[in-house]
Amino acid sequence: MTISLPPLREVIARHGLTASKALGQNFLLDEQLLDRIAAIPGTLKDRPVLEVGPGPGGLTRALLRAGARVTAIEMDRRCLPALAELDEAFPCQLRVIEGDALKIELAGLFDEPFAIVANLPYNVGTALFTGWLSGQAWPPRWSSLTLMFQQEVAQRIVAAPGGSAFGRLAVLAQWRSQAKLAMKVHRSAFTPPPKVMSAITHVTPGDMPAGVSARMLERVTEAAFGQRRKMLRQSLKGLPGALDALAALGIDAERRAETLSVEEFVSIARVLSQD
Ligand code: SAM
Repeated sequence: MTISLPPLREVIARHGLTASKALGQNFLLDEQLLDRIAAIPGTLKDRPVLEVGPGPGGLTRALLRAGARVTAIEMDRRCLPALAELDEAFPCQLRVIEGDALKIELAGLFDEPFAIVANLPYNVGTALFTGWLSGQAWPPRWSSLTLMFQQEVAQRIVAAPGGSAFGRLAVLAQWRSQAKLAMKVHRSAFTPPPKVMSAITHVTPGDMPAGVSARMLERVTEAAFGQRRKMLRQSLKGLPGALDALAALGIDAERRAETLSVEEFVSIARVLSQD
């Protein structure tokens, strides 16, 4: 069944949704592009999806067209009437929650694993992303994260060791998940266009390495990358037991943080987690 919807430009004009800079509003209006983004998590037919920041509902439409059962959290109440129209067009598929996604507890919203899809302002997206990937409990309640970031941030998320993009974000995103760069999105695809290019990362949870405290891994990467130009001997010396752990693991203390693999960070944290 093809559902005919008014063009997004018309929806934006009719509801007076002038883009708010404060809310980081850069809208995507190209429906083909939006369908391609909605396809990144794989088949969504009858699957629960959390969309954060639906705005006028471009990505929401694409998710609904793909058959998803969408829960959308939007902070800007001006967008709610436009989203209510989508609810009419796709009965029983959309639930809209008005509020700040940074303050809403997701655990109570779903009783089965859900995919998360979002095109969010940079600061909100990064804060949510690190929150969703942190903590000891694993596997998480979400089955995948498909998130738009500034391209430079997306590259830091998927970075391999050995370069300046490799840091805490890469280790966090990769130590028990697979993170890939799914699509680059040109700035001209947005209305209004942001200053920089964007890219979508897709993250799926993997196995939790045994015997590792997530908090300890954070402490190790915080110390190591806090002084990323220094040798590990210097950057890790404030972390009790860290230099002994390097010796026990045969990791040269003269190396710098960005040369270590994710697995080596995990090994260090594992040794320190036993203390
Ligand atoms: N998803 C739409 C699209 O792709 O065209 C809108 C994207 S726009 C970049 C970001 C959206 O997130 C805006 O609608 C904004 O109001 C909303 N937003 C910003 N901060 C938010 C927050 N903390 N919680 C929920 N929504 C937020």
